[in-house]
Amino acid sequence: MSDDRLPIGWIGLVHDLRLALHSAHPTAAITEMTADRGWLHVDVDDSQLGPAQRYQLGRLVQGFVTQSLHTCGCCGSGHGRDRGTSRVVTCDGCEKEAICDA
Ligand SMILES: [Zn+2]
Repeated sequence: MSDDRLPIGWIGLVHDLRLALHSAHPTAAITEMTADRGWLHVDVDDSQLGPAQRYQLGRLVQGFVTQSLHTCGCCGSGHGRDRGTSRVVTCDGCEKEAICDA
């Protein structure tokens, strides 16, 4: 488990993902979460699950990954946009203030 490289604004998103995953698939374990070019990248050990459960788990994770695409990596608002240059998406407010060096 190493998620220390994730943008601070994604803490809420990651927290929700952990909760949802744990309640839906208690035997699955998140092995790694990283920010990969503005996307949340999640590796899960789903070796305990059957094919149907793995499919459900994939859908669940994908939903959060999609959400990460417009979640500001600085303040966590849902208004983030890809700036093309930075590693994470930021919302207009944070981009303007430049308070986040992500
Ligand atoms: Zn923001």
